[in-house]
Amino acid sequence: MQNQKTILNKIIICLPVFLFLIFVFNFVRNNSTLFMPKEYKTIKKLVNKIAAKNNLGDKEIIFSIANGRYMSWRAKELDLCKEDECWYFNNLNPYKKYKNLRGINLNELGKQAYLYGGIEGYAWRGIVWLSRSTFRSYGEKTDLLACTIGHEISHVIFDSHINDSIKLSENLKNIEIENNNYLKKDNNKEDNKNEDYKNEERNFVEMELSRQSEKKADFEGAKMLINAGFPKDTCLKELKFLTEFEKLETETNMESTHPGYLERYKSLEKSIDNYDKFAYLNSFKPYSWKWKYKRKINSLIFIPIK
Ligand SMILES: [Zn+2]
Repeated sequence: MQNQKTILNKIIICLPVFLFLIFVFNFVRNNSTLFMPKEYKTIKKLVNKIAAKNNLGDKEIIFSIANGRYMSWRAKELDLCKEDECWYFNNLNPYKKYKNLRGINLNELGKQAYLYGGIEGYAWRGIVWLSRSTFRSYGEKTDLLACTIGHEISHVIFDSHINDSIKLSENLKNIEIENNNYLKKDNNKEDNKNEDYKNEERNFVEMELSRQSEKKADFEGAKMLINAGFPKDTCLKELKFLTEFEKLETETNMESTHPGYLERYKSLEKSIDNYDKFAYLNSFKPYSWKWKYKRKINSLIFIPIK
């Protein structure tokens, strides 16, 4: 009896220590870059190499890895969502366990997305988003993956909504002047046809500006890699690999946000040819940065310290 009491006392004394250790373990697991998934470790390694020779701006850059488009396609096919609501599945966290939804195993669907999904990346509001399948698709070719990451970082650093909006209105004004001249010649045009024509023109201008910003991001991303010591043609190889892998169009479609492969390749090749990395590196001022991993919001954050 006395022995039982002593054991009970010991358990009571040890319990807070045990709970504290669980808390510390969970905190470290959820916040330390040591315990993050291997794809995040790859991002950290590549961005460290890029940041050592490139100014990546003064703001934080957030990286997030999600399940990707394959997951939303399948979710739609399996009637798990209505057309407009399937984006939710696109952004599901691939490192989290989910309960079944209407009898469908979402964890299995996530594994299929990893296997069958392709290369996907975009930048939005300071966040570089990549599908987990992108890492499987590039495999050992991490230099090509670095190009995609450089391209998306360029969108975060260099894209400016205000500049884009000014460019758009300037272009539309010019079209308006042309349209007015055109309408003067033909006063019988119906108003709604004119409205359709205006919308179509606006769409063409927006797509043209988007393609210009893609070519700029290609070049800025390629510069980052060249400055960081990657071979000069790495991003040209990446464009070829991406086009083959994703079976992208080679000709530019006027209604597309991205130029076709031929235009993109030619533009990047010409820009790289004229680029002098030593001029940039001579004026480059090294700086420090730190990383924060947040498992709960599925993000790895690059924080420049200047
Ligand atoms: Zn882009």
